[in-house]
Amino acid sequence: MYEELKIVCWPDPRLKRRSRRVELFDSSLQALTERMFLLMRESKGVGLAAPQVGLNIRLFVMNATGQPGDDRIYVNPVLSEPSGEETAEEGCLSLPAMHVNIVRSKSIRITAQDLSGRTFEESESGYVARIWQHEYDHLEGTLLTDRMGAGARMTNRKLLKELEDQYRAEHPSADARKHVGMK
Ligand code: ZN
Repeated sequence: MYEELKIVCWPDPRLKRRSRRVELFDSSLQALTERMFLLMRESKGVGLAAPQVGLNIRLFVMNATGQPGDDRIYVNPVLSEPSGEETAEEGCLSLPAMHVNIVRSKSIRITAQDLSGRTFEESESGYVARIWQHEYDHLEGTLLTDRMGAGARMTNRKLLKELEDQYRAEHPSADARKHVGMK
């Protein structure tokens, strides 16, 4: 039922929405995460949030190592107890070819539900904590474009223009500027 899903790119308006909580934990959720893992691996990503496949629900998948045993699923995640700060380069499957330095909390706690609705908690620092924060941002409608500084925006201006043109070409009826509130 999810074979049609593909990764959507900026400035698709679905990436800018705040996603709603998952209330129903049925088998379709499992099918969705399987599709998301497939798309994530195809694009060599380490994380993928539901809005990135056009679904505005609070769910993301990730795999920080590339090992099959390290697939992780977080439904209705909440971040807490952020500590420290660290700057590192990030990319995003919805902003292909863009790499920007982003400040994140060094360590953080996540409380989330699994596919059966069971609540669990984890604490991590470094790379995994960074992926959590990046993917959580997607559920709030926040993208790297919202977090990067004026310098990075300038550096990536051409790339963003190309993505905008591509979106307009694929969605002739949509007024991308209006949807994303571009200046
Ligand atoms: Zn992303």
